[in-house]
Amino acid sequence: MLVTVLGSSGTYPTPENPASGYLVAAGTTVMLDCGPGTFPALLERGVVPDAIVLSHRHGDHCLDLLPLFNYLRFARTDVRRVPLLAPRGVVERLAAFVGAGADHPFFDVFAPLVIAPGESHRVGDISLEFGAAVHPVPALCIKVTADDVSLVYSGDTGPGGDLAGLSSGSDLLLCEATLQGPPPSDRYPYHLHAVEAGEVALAAGVGRLLVTHVSPTLDPAVSVREAAAKFEGRVDHAVPGMEVQV
Ligand SMILES: [Zn+2]
Repeated sequence: MLVTVLGSSGTYPTPENPASGYLVAAGTTVMLDCGPGTFPALLERGVVPDAIVLSHRHGDHCLDLLPLFNYLRFARTDVRRVPLLAPRGVVERLAAFVGAGADHPFFDVFAPLVIAPGESHRVGDISLEFGAAVHPVPALCIKVTADDVSLVYSGDTGPGGDLAGLSSGSDLLLCEATLQGPPPSDRYPYHLHAVEAGEVALAAGVGRLLVTHVSPTLDPAVSVREAAAKFEGRVDHAVPGMEVQV
């Protein structure tokens, strides 16, 4: 299983780093999130994913679905009904932006499927399992399994939810670490501090940790150090363009 980081910038893209988006390839190719800047990165690689999973509806995780729609609609008429998996309320909002009624090309290009935590789905050679993330809108953490190896992507989440359970024994945890330092008592409940990403990795017994969605105002080397203080396995920052063989 090959994981490619298209973008990992937390909350907004920068000139150097698109917002959240990852490709997972194992015969079948699945795109996890489609944040701003990830569509050009996808185009650069000449890849059309076999399925797209959107973790939640925040713009930094889904807005490049709109240029991807235009590309598929006009330039790739050979590709249709791409499975588009997302929690409730995501696809309706993106479709409304292009004014899509039921017979709009949006629903010819994409085949939407509403996903709830606890569900699973298969796309070609890849199995997907979904858990609940802790976020102010419906949000998923996602487990991808193929070739007897597995990756878990946290999406955006605060502490709790299904992330640690879903990650149990996984080979790679791609975990958000938006914040740094010890979580204060009045902590923001819907994102993780880097130290908490390390704690989840430790509790779940994963093979390797990639911290991602680090706020662009922070130094990711500090996030790696803080996570590594809790998790003894390998810890890296998910930099754009990075490829990880799982
Ligand atoms: Zn979010």
